Amino acid sequence: MPPRASYDVIIIGGGHNGLVAAAYLAKAGRRVCVLERRHVLGGASTTEELWPGYKVSTAAYVISLFQPQITRDLKLNAYGLKVLPRSPSSFTPFPDGRSLLMGPEPGLNQREIAKFSTRDAEAYPRYEKLLERVAKAIEPVLAKTAPDLPIEVNGRKIGLGKKVRDAGKLWEMYRAMSALGNDVPEAIEVLAGAARPLLERWFESEGLKATLATDAVIGSFSSIGAPGSAYVLLHHVMGEAGGARGVWGYVQGGMGGLATALEKSCTDLGVEIFRETEVRQILVKDGKAAGVLLAGGKQIDARIVASSLDPHWTFERLLEPQWLPEEFRAAVARIDYSSASAKVNLALSEPPNFTALPSTGVAPHHHGTMHIGPTLDYLERAFDDAKYGRPSEEPILELTMPTCVDQTIAPEGKHIISIFVQYAPYKLAEGNWDERKEAFGDRCIEVLSRYAPNVPGAVLHRQVLSPLDLERTYGLTGGNIFQGAMTLHQLYSLRPVAGWADHRTPVAGLYVCGAASHPGGGVMGSCGKNAAEEILRDH
Ligand SMILES: Cc1cc2nc3c(=O)[nH]c(=O)nc-3n(C[C@H](O)[C@H](O)[C@H](O)COP(=O)(O)OP(=O)(O)OC[C@H]3O[C@@H](n4cnc5c(N)ncnc54)[C@H](O)[C@@H]3O)c2cc1C
Repeated sequence: MPPRASYDVIIIGGGHNGLVAAAYLAKAGRRVCVLERRHVLGGASTTEELWPGYKVSTAAYVISLFQPQITRDLKLNAYGLKVLPRSPSSFTPFPDGRSLLMGPEPGLNQREIAKFSTRDAEAYPRYEKLLERVAKAIEPVLAKTAPDLPIEVNGRKIGLGKKVRDAGKLWEMYRAMSALGNDVPEAIEVLAGAARPLLERWFESEGLKATLATDAVIGSFSSIGAPGSAYVLLHHVMGEAGGARGVWGYVQGGMGGLATALEKSCTDLGVEIFRETEVRQILVKDGKAAGVLLAGGKQIDARIVASSLDPHWTFERLLEPQWLPEEFRAAVARIDYSSASAKVNLALSEPPNFTALPSTGVAPHHHGTMHIGPTLDYLERAFDDAKYGRPSEEPILELTMPTCVDQTIAPEGKHIISIFVQYAPYKLAEGNWDERKEAFGDRCIEVLSRYAPNVPGAVLHRQVLSPLDLERTYGLTGGNIFQGAMTLHQLYSLRPVAGWADHRTPVAGLYVCGAASHPGGGVMGSCGKNAAEEILRDH
């Protein structure tokens, strides 16, 4: 069935946020359609059968931040969503033959860290408790629409009612921070400071610091010494989708299992979902959203349009500039999309056999993220290459092997390894990514083989996704995995741009509902849920 001529609401993009927004709107009685350009749903959180029998989560690979409230509201467990927790959660092999295994099991971290430093083993629980306290303070903020600044900026005029509501939210934020008491200075450092100096003060063992610091640069084009990098350390203790605080999990059937459950929930609520249906233009009449024009030329009318695309696509590609105030356009043009992430997906005939912890078959250390990045200086040097436009000669690799807990995604006895790689700068000093990506993939395998020599001989299939591929395939401008960098000046009230943090835009009836809005990238669902709430407040 083709799309109808009109709906109450059109959602552009069938990523998880678009689907969440659609479900909440339909639940409130609106006639909603979702238009997705690709043949699969899920956006950057998707699963595709790349090779017969191998269901690969091509981009996002682990879940934790997804809001439990959404799972309950949309009955996602009943629709088949199942999160498989990972324990242990992290493994780092070192060149000297030692290794560090960490996870939620009480006592494991103590024993493992003590192999390197008893002082660190004592300090680690205090460090985790600090992060947990900060995470608990800011988690409620992630679940709600961000307040706007009480100033007129980028063409936004804010009425008294909203000013009062926003003041209430700022007050809640103030109270959450006050509750941190003596931890406030350290909390500020975690939220705005750099990972390296923070970790250097807490710990002495190089291996522990490097393991923790790897998380700090995931998806960002910054070094572990850059302000703002410490924030991502919090992800280690955030979210509960894995079954307990900070336990990241695999979605059974692959990350696309979330989109599949969302699709079923949406369909039962009456949402109409169309794949391979690309939006070419957002239509505006008298300054108000009027619908969309599809790539095939068909027009669909709606008074409400919500885009889950990034601001470059929503405001610079799909909308005619005349509908946006100049200062807003200038702010959108300044958004930072810099990125340096790549993905290498492998089908393996056997699990990696690490020299530092030899195994036959699947072992506990395969369950979590396997880190290749043994020292802080290694991580810094990886960034040094990237800042001059070169892919890291010694890249940082984060490996996950979901097949250790999920046998539904690969043929019996075979495995899928997902390698998230830093740094692969989108802008290369020489050549282009189409020419260079396979050589970079070779380099990643070569580096990995120093720790797990059996890997090159076990590779059955390989997919390398360069930042250019991330841009082309998922519509992520500049290959930025978060639809815009998650740096301090692009978070909270400043996301996507100052003055417009509440999902509204200068075009009445046009909203943003994807990761470009607060709370940003990651499989959380909050952007979609909060946007739906704001839409329902207006209409
Ligand atoms: C390589 C990679 C690894 C990641 N790893 C993780 C992870 O492990 N855990 C985690 O929590 N997060 C991870 N992330 C981030 C997370 O996946 C994203 O932030 C999140 O999926 C964004 O969801 P969204 O629905 O807002 O947008 P998207 O997923 O970007 O969805 C937007 C949708 O719009 C569609 N679209 C684009 N243009 C059009 C058009 N013109 N017409 C119609 N449809 C269109 C796209 O095809 C896409 O389906 C990762 C991201 C990447 C890229």
